[in-house]
Amino acid sequence: MELLEGKTLAAKQKQLLKERVAHLKTKGIVPKVAGIVIHDDETSQHYFQVNRRLAGRLGIEYEIHQVPASAPTEHMLELITMINQDPLVHGIMLGVPLPLHMDQAKIVQQIDPKKDSDGLHPENLGLLVRSEPRIVPNTARAVMQLLAYHHIPIEGKHALIVGRSSIVGKPLSLLLLNNNATVTIAHSRTAHLEDLTRTADILCVAVGRPHFITRDMVKSGAVVIDVGTNYDDAGHVTGDIDFSSVQTVASALSPVPGGVGPITNVMLFDQLINRLERED
Ligand code: NAP
Repeated sequence: MELLEGKTLAAKQKQLLKERVAHLKTKGIVPKVAGIVIHDDETSQHYFQVNRRLAGRLGIEYEIHQVPASAPTEHMLELITMINQDPLVHGIMLGVPLPLHMDQAKIVQQIDPKKDSDGLHPENLGLLVRSEPRIVPNTARAVMQLLAYHHIPIEGKHALIVGRSSIVGKPLSLLLLNNNATVTIAHSRTAHLEDLTRTADILCVAVGRPHFITRDMVKSGAVVIDVGTNYDDAGHVTGDIDFSSVQTVASALSPVPGGVGPITNVMLFDQLINRLERED
């Protein structure tokens, strides 16, 4: 069984990004990201701090705007308009999900599509549907990079994605489709999931339930990608795949931690720098 680890690729990409950022700076471009985060959203706060540390190591500026959970949609729209108009900010990250009283769709749509670091603006999702990806959701892109790095063939394969979120499952299905896989998407209403998973050559799982996929659900020789990130009470992270049993049947399997996760964090900055280099 081949371990589809992502740390080595992430480390290489970080080194390369440092050089690319330094090169942009010689041309007077200082890459900068603005994060917008709800003050008491602990998960997003943690995620943004991790991103900010990584940005610092890469030479990228990263400012965080704290927003109270009680703020109205209008406040978010004004903040985003202000950041959109700031020529020194090149990317905007939004800590989602937003509080229920906020109109998340409207807020995401307010982001300048060229500064949409999450790839969730309808214009960017539309370009992905048209097979002309510009900025795509970072996790979905990370899965594709992991597959490419480990030379996993995609064309003609049956790829099954379990999970249909806009941030992972749906964009990943489109990226796999654009790479000529035959794609099936499963979700919580899918009947007889195990019959489907057993037909997958490439099985990608983004559900958010520890040990959700077990050995009996996986075809012998399948490539299995675990996107799940689940924390137990002690703060340990596990994926959605029952790693110890599935590793006895899969030909390749991504671990959690150390698989898709490390690459996802780098993708945000990789896409930002790609854009700045294109415009340079
Ligand atoms: P999400 O929005 O909660 O979506 C979960 C998906 O799983 C939904 O489509 C849901 O179906 C489906 N699902 C739930 N129970 C199911 C079942 N019994 N059978 C089949 N499908 C089922 O979650 P997400 O944002 O996509 O994230 C998914 C996981 O990936 C989480 O663990 C998250 O932490 C992780 N994640 C990791 C990274 C990374 O970089 N590694 C990044 C983002 C997310 P319905 O649509 O029918 O409800």
